[in-house]
Amino acid sequence: MLITVWILGDQLLAQHPALAAAEKLAGSRAQVRVLLVQSAARARKLPYQRKKLVLLFSAMRHYAQALGQQGYHVEYLIAPNFTVALQEHCATHFPDQLLTMAAADENGRLFQHTLAQRLNLPVTVLPNTQFLIGQHNPFPNLPPVKRVVQEQFYRAMRRHFGVLMEGAEPAGGAWNYDRLNRQPLPAHLNPPDPPSFAPDAITQEVMAEVAQIPGLGSVAGFDLAVTRAQAQAAFADFLAQRLPNFGTYEDAMTQRHATLYHSLLSPYLNLGLLEPLELIRAAEQAYYAGQAPLNAVEGFVRQILGWREYMAWQYGRFGAAMKKMNAWGAERPLPEFFWTGETEMNCLRHAIGRALQSGYTHHIERLMLLSNFALLAGLHPAAVNDWFQAAYIDAYEWVMLPNVIGMGLNADGGLTATKPYIASANYIHKMSDYCGSCRFNRKKRHGADACPFNTLYWNFLLTHEARLRANPRLGQNVLGLRHLDDAGRQLVRQQAASFLAHLSRNR
Ligand SMILES: Cc1cc2nc3c(=O)[nH]c(=O)nc-3n(C[C@H](O)[C@H](O)[C@H](O)COP(=O)(O)OP(=O)(O)OC[C@H]3O[C@@H](n4cnc5c(N)ncnc54)[C@H](O)[C@@H]3O)c2cc1C
Repeated sequence: MLITVWILGDQLLAQHPALAAAEKLAGSRAQVRVLLVQSAARARKLPYQRKKLVLLFSAMRHYAQALGQQGYHVEYLIAPNFTVALQEHCATHFPDQLLTMAAADENGRLFQHTLAQRLNLPVTVLPNTQFLIGQHNPFPNLPPVKRVVQEQFYRAMRRHFGVLMEGAEPAGGAWNYDRLNRQPLPAHLNPPDPPSFAPDAITQEVMAEVAQIPGLGSVAGFDLAVTRAQAQAAFADFLAQRLPNFGTYEDAMTQRHATLYHSLLSPYLNLGLLEPLELIRAAEQAYYAGQAPLNAVEGFVRQILGWREYMAWQYGRFGAAMKKMNAWGAERPLPEFFWTGETEMNCLRHAIGRALQSGYTHHIERLMLLSNFALLAGLHPAAVNDWFQAAYIDAYEWVMLPNVIGMGLNADGGLTATKPYIASANYIHKMSDYCGSCRFNRKKRHGADACPFNTLYWNFLLTHEARLRANPRLGQNVLGLRHLDDAGRQLVRQQAASFLAHLSRNR
């Protein structure tokens, strides 16, 4: 019996379940054909970050090569779309059956379930093994209206997987150390750069191809890991060089450095080159070996076992329907400067510039600069989502929708986060060095040089006062309105209206 295994581009797992299943079913590796497809239509769905396309296609080609070295017959097809490639493969190899692993994204899964009909072949879609929620769902059979917050979810996962647990209690006696993790970056600290991987012949070939595809940014300077061994080296470097400071400066932002002490591992995790539990266990071990403090290790573990799994779980509950959510009725189109980086707001110029150039900004810049601005300015959630989806090297629908629509824009009505993440220039100044050299005045709410974050923040509070007041976690923010008299309110409203009316032209 001849079996084809179709491996999706973001499922480059060292232990892919469909490979083992196919070999068992076919009786020998020689009877298994492995197919990887590079679809031109998929790569052109949005104007994607070119570095993301290079990462994806190069990692797929290296993965295909590695499987070939393990004795598999591998076919790597570049085709107009997935259907054409699969049909072409079947017409050439005549497999008796096709095995594949469920896609992480809803559209991919729907497509997989049409395959038997399209190919006129028995097709088995195996359960996805890329997430820990595949091994343990802490809250099964929950009605959609029932909300579970990340903290509840995270504690249940820590208990189940026995991570940083001492008996029934969390290591160190607390579930989180956020109070230690909100420091700005001191001027004397220079975070080390993440490792750089020189493109080999395969990557250079991909770079030349991707340079011809319409998209964002440039292939020049591509230096990401494209194999599991390189991704493991990137992780080892993080453990040794950055994990000890990860917690303390997790929320810090600076124009001096893009990654600070962050891991830059999401691109590899999301492709399957690294798996969540191996990172969690290694970080835990670093704590017990005295190589990193608990506030750093717990913070890192929470990002993966808490936030990442929680986001995948939320996507599993609400799916692609999240893209239509718009709880704050935001209708404004995306300003042009999101595509050019040309704005006088220093913080946004840096963050957008980095996103367009490298496809990466760290979490707080995504949340407290980019989506904070989008929420305060009333930008349409689906447009914001598409921008993130296009610009970032780690973007996939399953992680983007709950992060952008849920956490970033609160457009899901609070299903993901208990409060909208909104802040004025005060927060940005406290956590970064952006405001010092900005042409806008971080202390002003109105007037020609007032920081737009302030104008929009106070305008948002005024516009949604009643609704925000009802949220106990935002009481403090709304209380600030006491200091704004009628004339002040009027000025904020006027300036916000004029800024927003001209947003597409505003810089
Ligand atoms: C508006 C917005 C958009 C985002 N879009 C994406 C995206 O497209 N792809 C993506 O992987 N993450 C996304 N995130 C989550 C998070 O910002 C990135 O995972 C993180 O910045 C990746 O950088 P890092 O690897 O250096 O992370 P670190 O700060 O080093 O964290 C370690 C790991 O934890 C995981 N993680 C942390 N927070 C989250 C989270 N909220 N959701 C999922 N995983 C998390 C990531 O895998 C990350 O590699 C988004 C967050 C926001 C607010």
